[in-house]
Amino acid sequence: MAMKLARTVNDARSMVSELKSGMGSFGLVPTMGALHRGHISLIERSVADNEKTGVSIFVNPTQFNEKQDFESYPRNLDEDLEILNEFHVDLVFAPSPEEIYPDPDTRNFDFGGLDRVMEGVHRPGHFNGVAQVVSRLFEILSPDRAYFGEKDFQQLAIIRKMTGDLGLPVELIGCPIIREEDGLAMSSRNKLLTAEERSSATRLSAALYRAKERAGNTDPGELIRETLNYLNEDPLIETEYFEIVDARLEPVEAWREGHPLRACLAVKIGKVRLIDNIEFSF
Ligand code: AMP
Repeated sequence: MAMKLARTVNDARSMVSELKSGMGSFGLVPTMGALHRGHISLIERSVADNEKTGVSIFVNPTQFNEKQDFESYPRNLDEDLEILNEFHVDLVFAPSPEEIYPDPDTRNFDFGGLDRVMEGVHRPGHFNGVAQVVSRLFEILSPDRAYFGEKDFQQLAIIRKMTGDLGLPVELIGCPIIREEDGLAMSSRNKLLTAEERSSATRLSAALYRAKERAGNTDPGELIRETLNYLNEDPLIETEYFEIVDARLEPVEAWREGHPLRACLAVKIGKVRLIDNIEFSF
């Protein structure tokens, strides 16, 4: 069946009810477009798991805490649609901000402290905006499952909390980080890097692999200092944070066996903000 494109909430609702009139489940992959292999991996997983798959493309203004970041965010719907056509996607929802927010969204979510670390500290209001848009997309599209990348590890925890608190009947699936050959995590923002910045950006994943390897030999505080030094050896990199947290996003003070941990970082290279993370345990 040909892929359908909805630009309005009304069209999306009626297309979804038509799609769901058959048997089987409906999977959703929410994105901000400028699609790359990271997004495609989520789509392929949804297509494998579900009868029907929808992809949303919406650069959500309420989750950007910097105007310049929102304005420079890459957008290319025509190219995205061409890519999606090749991957058995049934529905694309690409609304305007007015469709998603006919009135300003004044909802304030409580994330039980999950937003008090890392991205939550460095991007005030960001997760509230994420919860606004994701809850709205879930309400409009009523997916049975929704797919999110572990690239945005904290976001996944926040969305799990929001979905649980609101009692939304959607199963959330976390998917592994897809990387370039040199280790750089795929991101729509990578397009904004100059050649020189792009080459510095390989240091992010290198720092994470290095930290994973050294963990256990030294205590978490020392490992954090070492890794920050390693990142900052490159004059193009301005580190916002490097942290090691447990599954509840609480900073780890001592190594404990059998607990999955995440080392997470955010940096700025030039005007471009990049995040990455890696899992490890003992
Ligand atoms: P974005 O368009 O950046 O909002 O991302 C849409 C979804 O794709 C989010 O769930 C991201 O976590 C996921 N994603 C982005 N980059 C990657 C990646 N490199 N690997 C896996 N998932 C990713």
